[in-house]
Amino acid sequence: MAEKRDYYEVLGVERNADAETIKKAYRKAAIKYHPDKNPGDKEAEEKFKEAAEAYDVLSNEDKRARYDRFGHAGMGGAAGGGAGFGGFGGGFSMEDIFEQFGDIFGGAFGGGRSHSHTQRVRRGSDIRVTVKLTLQEIAEGVTKKLKINKTVACDRCGGTGAKDSSSYESCSTCHGSGYVVTVQNSFFGRMQTQSVCPTCQGTGRVIKEHCDKCHGEGVEKGSEVIEVKIPAGVADGMMLTVRGKGNAARHGGQNGDLLVVIEEEYNPQLVRDGNDLVHNMNITVTTAILGGEVEVPTIDGKARIKIAPGTHAGKVLRLRGKGLPNVNGYGRGDIMVVVDITIPDELTSEERYLVEKLAEKPHFKRAEEVENQNIFERMKNFFR
Ligand SMILES: [Zn+2]
Ligand SMILES: [Zn+2]
Repeated sequence: MAEKRDYYEVLGVERNADAETIKKAYRKAAIKYHPDKNPGDKEAEEKFKEAAEAYDVLSNEDKRARYDRFGHAGMGGAAGGGAGFGGFGGGFSMEDIFEQFGDIFGGAFGGGRSHSHTQRVRRGSDIRVTVKLTLQEIAEGVTKKLKINKTVACDRCGGTGAKDSSSYESCSTCHGSGYVVTVQNSFFGRMQTQSVCPTCQGTGRVIKEHCDKCHGEGVEKGSEVIEVKIPAGVADGMMLTVRGKGNAARHGGQNGDLLVVIEEEYNPQLVRDGNDLVHNMNITVTTAILGGEVEVPTIDGKARIKIAPGTHAGKVLRLRGKGLPNVNGYGRGDIMVVVDITIPDELTSEERYLVEKLAEKPHFKRAEEVENQNIFERMKNFFR
């Protein structure tokens, strides 16, 4: 993928530009590179998408602040298309752009693609699914294929609910205009309100003859296999939005979204703490005293680490950069190995003998005991 251009540069605005300036700059770019004006021009299409992506970030206060601090790395899901958090993680489709920003064109373009203000779009409901991920999948990022049962557009009528293209008649409520006007006399004078026609939902026409497969609903039960690209570093409870992959709407409206909730498989060996992983490690008394090498689990197999002679229980050894990547692509956590010392419950008579011998040696006396003895000696000297 080519190097991403700076969003401010894309829109040709200063870094401190206000919201109105950014909106104007985007509108200008969008009109210039609009596919209706540049049919078949791939470069214009790329520029159009680039501008939309820049506007998506710079028009949102949170996203803009994140971008100002971390640049493109802060925008999540940097590599290629797929899902993003609460918006686009990268990679816009033309449909996304028309759905998201349709209104900014203010009807500058005719055609069926941009939504007109008077038409209320029916929207299908969102579908929420949970995806369980292992630590390794979280560490590396993963693409999951999910089979989703949902309502899909009827394949006979293409979601319209009509038998064929001649099965429509003009709406009698609004006489085909798509809106109704109500006039009210109020304290402020005569008030005229225009609203979407409730009978035809603004389309200006109603179905005369229904599709006999879906009985005019435009939708039917079905399923779809959807690939969801999950970026590395996600955490339990996070939600990804896959636009337009939810339930289809009745009568050919806009699809709902697929909401993918992340569930983390519990790993008792490596317990997550933010981007760090905590491992509780038991070592023997002799290793604690003499030092040695032990194996610790990591995300991708085992690692050997050195234990220094005289290691105490509770000591934390840090394996830098062996934890989880930050979901915003910024840095990586550590593995923290917390040392505990295993004390044997039972001893053979020989072991008992050796330990008792050891207990008489100066370095195996309790520190307090040694200290008390010293004080006792000093006191004796003092009173002498
Ligand atoms: Zn149908
Ligand atoms: Zn109507």
